[in-house]
Amino acid sequence: MAGIWIVAETREQAFELLGAGRLLAPEMETTVTAVVAKGSASPQECIARGADEVLLLAELAPGEPFGAQLPVIEQEARASSPHAILFSATARGKETAARLSARLAAGLCSACTALAFDKATGSIVMERLAYGGAAIQKLAASAAPVVITIPPRSFEPAEAMDGRQGKTRELPAPPPSAVKIVERKPKEKVSKDITEARVIVCAGRGFDKKEDIALARRLADALGGELGATRPLTEELHWLPEDLCIGLSGVQVKPELYVGLGVSGQVQHMTGVRGAKVVCSVNRDENAPIFALSDFGIVGDLYEVVPKILEKLET
Ligand SMILES: Cc1cc2nc3c(=O)[nH]c(=O)nc-3n(C[C@H](O)[C@H](O)[C@H](O)COP(=O)(O)OP(=O)(O)OC[C@H]3O[C@@H](n4cnc5c(N)ncnc54)[C@H](O)[C@@H]3O)c2cc1C
Repeated sequence: MAGIWIVAETREQAFELLGAGRLLAPEMETTVTAVVAKGSASPQECIARGADEVLLLAELAPGEPFGAQLPVIEQEARASSPHAILFSATARGKETAARLSARLAAGLCSACTALAFDKATGSIVMERLAYGGAAIQKLAASAAPVVITIPPRSFEPAEAMDGRQGKTRELPAPPPSAVKIVERKPKEKVSKDITEARVIVCAGRGFDKKEDIALARRLADALGGELGATRPLTEELHWLPEDLCIGLSGVQVKPELYVGLGVSGQVQHMTGVRGAKVVCSVNRDENAPIFALSDFGIVGDLYEVVPKILEKLET
């Protein structure tokens, strides 16, 4: 039984998963192996960021999906029996992880947000959100390997270190896949990617009408940030595009500053804001749940409070 594996399709995924793997490996006194697609992170970059070994996946023939690599990954995993295999919880990562765990008859922990090694029991302990973010579920892997998917941006990307050494091995090309990609269409984006935003002003149901969202947009502009929204505004009223919905059925954000305007702070929304450094809120109900989760709160009517803030910021 040896090592922590990370399987990455892109450079960003490789660095983030190496960040997670590097937390675990020293505690377990084991190594980190990066299984990476050619053209993503280079072996040198992976080694500098904590990989002891890099297994380079062969380039796929045009039209072959990433899942075509599964037989090769499975074979290698069977041969070296890692303790854990980490994937990014992207649509493709989740699919590949689930298929690999089925092939290996291994346990799967999806959407893991924290990892540790329990020396007393010798098991990897994983945390994930449960009940729509209302609770944290703790799972201990009772057998190895365990396959783990990690939502993007849950762990800090590993930093490069000087003088690290490691081995690189090229993996054989997989057998032709029965599944072929016949066409690729870029997903239509109607708004900016708020998952990368440093500042987010989130509009909630406290706004009376669509036109008033301009107030939230002005505040976002004045703070150099982006506009986000709660689900009622995107799914029910369709005042804003779905891409802007933050929470359980929307996106997870990690801004330095989140400002909720007329947002009540229900768990399904706030679960998407867990990673925010500073949370500010404006709500006219002093008992709104968002205040318990805010660093700074203003009890007041957003139609009075926001123009006053804008007056200060825009002069
Ligand atoms: C399975 C499931 C998944 C869900 N996923 C999501 C999700 O991903 N994202 C999400 O956002 N929601 C999600 N929801 C919905 C969620 O439960 C809440 O209903 C939603 O977040 C509430 O949005 P809100 O805070 O904008 O509206 P409300 O809860 O209606 O709150 C509006 C707030 O505005 C305040 N207010 C009103 N007028 C003013 C004013 N003039 N000035 C200041 N304050 C004012 C009120 O006091 C109130 O607190 C989900 C629900 C379910 C069941």
